Amino acid sequence: MDLLGFVARVNGVTNDLALNFINDFVIEKCVLGKAHPVPLDEAGELRLWVVTWMFVYFGTLVLYFLAAGFHYLLFFVLFKESYIPDYKPNYKEMWREVRFSVTSLVTMSAMVTPSEVLVHKGFTKLYENVDEYGLAYFLLSPILFLLFSDFIIYWVHRFLHHRLIYKYIHKPHHSFVHTTPFAAFAFHPLDGYMQGVAYHIFVYFIPFHTFMHLASLGIVGLWTINIHDRVDMGIPLINGAGHHRVHHLTFNHNYGQYFIIFDWLFGTMRDPKKWGNLMESEESVYGDDAKKIG
Ligand SMILES: [Zn+2]
Ligand SMILES: [Zn+2]
Repeated sequence: MDLLGFVARVNGVTNDLALNFINDFVIEKCVLGKAHPVPLDEAGELRLWVVTWMFVYFGTLVLYFLAAGFHYLLFFVLFKESYIPDYKPNYKEMWREVRFSVTSLVTMSAMVTPSEVLVHKGFTKLYENVDEYGLAYFLLSPILFLLFSDFIIYWVHRFLHHRLIYKYIHKPHHSFVHTTPFAAFAFHPLDGYMQGVAYHIFVYFIPFHTFMHLASLGIVGLWTINIHDRVDMGIPLINGAGHHRVHHLTFNHNYGQYFIIFDWLFGTMRDPKKWGNLMESEESVYGDDAKKIG
């Protein structure tokens, strides 16, 4: 498909497609057994909130199990010798990653729901037609978004590692040192929400196509899975799984999201190739502040 054909197809691609499907098919038809579904916008406020939560939660779960399962099968089973030869399966720990992710996502999705309800109600600067801001803006807006979200996430993540804050919110995620892709959403719900907040702020200030917004949410989910698989692809400027492995080993380096730019600018970048497997203990980094509360 050529570029213009692609652009014509993304017009009108919004979260509402998924919301209407959940309302009409899942709730009205399958759960309530109605032959003639009541449309979402006539089904009341409570329905909108429930459907939006279902979209975020189950959408993320489907993505999580498919993509994390695929990464695990590929790098930890089929091609383990080429990519992670020192990996020894720890199913108890992996089950803890899955259980933590699946339960935390219930609350994380609830925290994201108000923002996505406001998206549905049209309170944001999201737009549906590429012509509104032109093709060049449509194609360049992801760069703006990536710079914005990488900057915010860098500082949110660095703040969560502050010695006075760390043990309250971010420590549970760092209880996983040798991660598998299933650690992707193993966060305290507030931690997961804070690290995703840039995605929900951006749409109030900068015009962004609805397709790009939907894609940004899906891609960051896949990215979170990708950076926990420990496989360093060594792509220049990219804060990949190698960098995030170092983050889990040392606690206070490589805070970035997609790029190493802000880690490099603010002096927290560690090259995984040079760092190797050197590990620091939580106590040596945070002292007594790392101790679990209570
Ligand atoms: Zn992590
Ligand atoms: Zn961290």
